[in-house]
Amino acid sequence: MSRYAWAEPGVYPAAAGVHRIVCPLPNDGLKAVNVYAIEDGDGLALVDTGWRDDGILGALTAGLEQLGSSIERLTTIICTHSHYDHYGLSALLSERSGAPVLLGEWERKNLSVALDRGAFARDRAFQHAQLRAHGASDLADTLAARHFSIERVQARGFARLPDRWLSDGERIELRDRTLVAHLTPGHSRGHLMFLDESARVLFAGDHVLPHITPSIGFEGFSDGHGLEAFLSSLRASRELPADVVLPGHGPVFADLAQKTIAYSRFAGREGYSVVPPKLSELAIIMGARAWTAHYAWYVHRRAAERAGVPVPVVEAIRDGRRPAAMDRDVAAVYAFCNELLTQKRVSDATLREARAVLGGDRGVVDLVGTLGMYQMVAMMMVVDEFPLPDGVTSELKPL
Ligand SMILES: [Zn+2]
Repeated sequence: MSRYAWAEPGVYPAAAGVHRIVCPLPNDGLKAVNVYAIEDGDGLALVDTGWRDDGILGALTAGLEQLGSSIERLTTIICTHSHYDHYGLSALLSERSGAPVLLGEWERKNLSVALDRGAFARDRAFQHAQLRAHGASDLADTLAARHFSIERVQARGFARLPDRWLSDGERIELRDRTLVAHLTPGHSRGHLMFLDESARVLFAGDHVLPHITPSIGFEGFSDGHGLEAFLSSLRASRELPADVVLPGHGPVFADLAQKTIAYSRFAGREGYSVVPPKLSELAIIMGARAWTAHYAWYVHRRAAERAGVPVPVVEAIRDGRRPAAMDRDVAAVYAFCNELLTQKRVSDATLREARAVLGGDRGVVDLVGTLGMYQMVAMMMVVDEFPLPDGVTSELKPL
């Protein structure tokens, strides 16, 4: 399996009555877009579309056929946002099927830039001025020299406005399910996620992606607050009641695991694990080392050092040695995790010492939870052969 296994063209089950059709994106770093087909009476409703391109249209047509359906039998076309890989093909699909196209109302400005020649020109001038005003003159000039034209934008399918503008909280009634729109600005100002509350399934668009952080759009007539909007809508979406998250790009993931991981990751904060961050990171790197999980090690050894785990301790763990000198708290957690990982048991003395250092049973339970969760993460990365960033070599030798 590789990191891009999810982008293999085909149709995959995503949730009960929901299918993920993978449409490859030509010349695009994202590799592919997930188009979700939801069973809706005799037809299928779509979430997102890909852009207007023969390959994408071919993959989508084949996917619908494999599901015993066709473009003509689409019932509703729901788009998370107006970017071309999510909205571009909607005009053509709607023309062929008669299905209405639905899009968030805050996407009006973005769409106007793609549809209206005057707005396109005004926005180009606005962007240029903004970049210069913020000291990015070189970038402004580079972009200007590329001569982006509205024709190039429209070639990806932008042809018309949606049939229905959706507002935050609006309900989309399909035959057997209701999707509730959640406004999540940031990646685009009018981005919507759609939650099927009774199935606990979330169509996340590009708001949360499994491998990467979404880009924050420098979009048409930007108000300059995209990142701020993104961070607050990330916080708000953390509470959504979903077990399965269906992203616009990347593999389907289970939010339950994410929430549990978050409990460990935000150690030390109110409502999260009571293990101090330094000791929590110590447990995490010991789990990563035990599984020789290169990426998890790469990320967490830095986090461990930042949280105050001494470098010689990190290096000893890396090399599979017992650290020569440790403070009491580090020594207690090291002994606890080491016994658990290597002997599959913990002696009474070690447990007593861990309890003392972590302030009681709750601390011990949280420590075991952290070690367990991050071993799961490490195992997934080992199975996925998750790659290190370019130019980084692994620090872990086989034990
Ligand atoms: Zn996007």
